[in-house]
Amino acid sequence: MKRILITGAAGFLGSHLCDRFMAEGYHVIAMDNLITGDLKNIEHLFREEHFEFYHHDVTKFVHVPGPLHYILHFASPASPIDYLKIPIQTLKVGALGTHNLLGLAKEKQARILIASTSEVYGDPLVHPQPETYFGNVNTISPRGVYDEAKRFQESITMAYHRFHGLDTRIVRIFNTYGPRMRLNDGRVIPAFMGQALRGEDLTVFGDGSQTRSFCYVDDQVEGIYRLLLSDYTLPINIGNPHEITIRDFAEEIIKLTGTDQKIVYKPLPEDDPMQRQPDIAKAREILGWEPRVERAEGMRKTFEYFRQLSPEELMKREHRDFTARNRR
Ligand code: UDP
Repeated sequence: MKRILITGAAGFLGSHLCDRFMAEGYHVIAMDNLITGDLKNIEHLFREEHFEFYHHDVTKFVHVPGPLHYILHFASPASPIDYLKIPIQTLKVGALGTHNLLGLAKEKQARILIASTSEVYGDPLVHPQPETYFGNVNTISPRGVYDEAKRFQESITMAYHRFHGLDTRIVRIFNTYGPRMRLNDGRVIPAFMGQALRGEDLTVFGDGSQTRSFCYVDDQVEGIYRLLLSDYTLPINIGNPHEITIRDFAEEIIKLTGTDQKIVYKPLPEDDPMQRQPDIAKAREILGWEPRVERAEGMRKTFEYFRQLSPEELMKREHRDFTARNRR
């Protein structure tokens, strides 16, 4: 039986990856420090024989007993609100955490896939973004902590690949959505859906002319799964190329949720990229992958998830409080 370590396992993507690898018959070792993750996302797996959970922070030495065949490194804060609240941890998990996991992969002779991001392209000057684009990143902006951590992560991963011959994979993940996103993480989809459910107006930042392209989580997980099992070692974009402006998207959400909310405009956050759309030619060619779930269908499923949350959860608008211990 293949054994796989998944870091960030209690998070949005991590928990869906746990489900997928359990379904594929792997022994899944899940790891999370639960700062942004939530055990609720994986508690249905706790009764499974081939699932174990370690409450551990990967910026500290990582020990996993027994053989390990694969590592998926998905531990990281991943929303702008988190980078602002826990900037140093964001840098540490991308840098020190990745270093620890590369060391573990080397020790265990395991294949490691690291979760990178479209943020390595920054506010891109090339559109759509192919993997060969080097990016336009502001190192010292609030988002810089995430962007630079992820750029360093790619760098050190390639160094381990070239210098130690480590078996590595790098996925550049573009905006992905679906059930188990955190309602209060500040990202646009949970923000709009939460606002619709509470009967509040939808907050569009800037004039809403900035674009994003949203990939449904099942498509994202399929892309990651194929990449892990492929023999391709350079970074690859996984995302949905169907682009929409945030203003049009707000209108779609109002229609979908059947509410009569208005749109209100708020200031644009610093370094909010104007356009983002993946060039997925490589994923198509190398992995035979492309997204299958239409936005309307994916948004319906996601809204169903948010709708079944308790009224108390819906009202938890503030981001959770971080203790001093967590800020280090
Ligand atoms: N956004 C918005 N209203 C919100 C939250 C986000 O208009 O309540 C905008 C945000 O400024 C950005 C886009 O939606 O242009 C996507 O934001 P998100 O935080 O989801 O992801 P990212 O900026 O990392 O793509």
